[in-house]
Amino acid sequence: MQYFPIFLDTTDLNCLVVGAGEVAARKIELLLKTHATINVVAPWACDTVLRFVEEGKVKFEKRLYETQDLSQKQLVFVATDDSLVNAQVHAQAKAQNILVNVVDNIPLCQFITPSIVDRSPIVIAISSGGVAPVLLRYLRQKLESLIPQKVSLLGQFSEKFRELVKQKLSSVTARRFFWEDVLDGDIAEDVLVGNNEQAERKLLSKLDSDDSKIKGEVYLVGAGPGDPDLLTFRALRLMQKADVVVYDRLVSSEILELVRRDAEKIYVGKAKSKHTVPQEEINELLASEALAGKRVVRLKGGDPFIFGRGGEEIETLVEKGISFQVVPGITAASGAASYAGIPLTHRDHAKSVVFATGHLRDNTINLNWKGLAQADQTIVFYMGLTGLAIICEELVKHGLPTTTPIAMVQSATTPQQKVITGTFMDIQAKAEAAGIQPPALIIVGSVVSLHEKLNWFNPR
Ligand code: SAH
Repeated sequence: MQYFPIFLDTTDLNCLVVGAGEVAARKIELLLKTHATINVVAPWACDTVLRFVEEGKVKFEKRLYETQDLSQKQLVFVATDDSLVNAQVHAQAKAQNILVNVVDNIPLCQFITPSIVDRSPIVIAISSGGVAPVLLRYLRQKLESLIPQKVSLLGQFSEKFRELVKQKLSSVTARRFFWEDVLDGDIAEDVLVGNNEQAERKLLSKLDSDDSKIKGEVYLVGAGPGDPDLLTFRALRLMQKADVVVYDRLVSSEILELVRRDAEKIYVGKAKSKHTVPQEEINELLASEALAGKRVVRLKGGDPFIFGRGGEEIETLVEKGISFQVVPGITAASGAASYAGIPLTHRDHAKSVVFATGHLRDNTINLNWKGLAQADQTIVFYMGLTGLAIICEELVKHGLPTTTPIAMVQSATTPQQKVITGTFMDIQAKAEAAGIQPPALIIVGSVVSLHEKLNWFNPR
């Protein structure tokens, strides 16, 4: 982030605006929404600024800018049509550590003003750092239409009861649960339709009845194969509610970005030392965090119940009487198949599909190879990268032709996705040449031949 977003308290803020044309007027209009003191200096002023002066909203000095105008100022906007003056004010302000913005001149801006969606006390500020103004305008419109105008009513309502709730519920977590319940449910609906009396009554009785006993929970959440767009709504909602997030290496950093910012994030995947946190320890961790009253999201790549050991993790929870939810995710096979243009079933190619583990143990893969090696069946191997040679060998040994199409999909659905296709005879050489890395899936079967025609996703 080159630009760090902050919200300035404008109570005692002393602002200088150099210039008083229409451009300056637009900045002044913005500043007038705040509590800042606004000083304007310019040899002339447009009608809008003159009106502000008449209304006593700004102090105006009708003359050229002088260095001492900067004295006692914390924030400066410069909007003259004289580039020398603009540069001069910028340099002098900067030298005195006063934040300066030369309007529409990014190199001369120490801060930029964001696009604002104002639902005070809720204020949303967005920026593209000046590089994508059209996209920014588009997003702002989206936000404007997405966020009900009346959300400010909810803000005011929360403000009114904030102190009282704080007195009644001493724990921060209890308060958060309380407010989330209020905002998620019928009390908020009442506020939004203007039924304040009823909303207040309900809130007060809820506050009295709340035993403020917090019960922790575990959400076993599938994060999908990588592309954050493939998360489910529920996954996202729970991620935003979490106190603790336990994740491993298959969960991308873009997805972690979507987790509630204050949540504690615990990594339990392979560290550099190649040491993995033992499964029992993870099971215990989930249980102990929940017992401490936290909302724990156990975030897993793909689907938690497909080669994800999700079952083992919740068995411990069942034993300890901890409540939990399981949220399905798009498994790597579905993600890879879709993004590589390889339908897993197809009337002309495959009547069934099997997901198998290609995990190598003692140099063998213990699978029912005869059952797998069927002509009209697609096989997807998870964790099969190191076992590739054995997979090819066994399938041929059990009856599949050496010319059977086979694909490898690396980092499916992400910008790093790579797809290679071949046959049992050449796939190993091709994988090596392409430098295929984990995570990668292997897809075997005649559906692979459709890739060339149906491929649509071209990352990068
Ligand atoms: N629960 C996960 C699978 C975990 S097993 C799911 O449902 O997808 C780990 C294996 O999944 C990896 O070895 C790899 O074979 C596969 N995998 C996971 N994400 C992948 C991705 N984005 N691209 C390709 N393969 C992936």
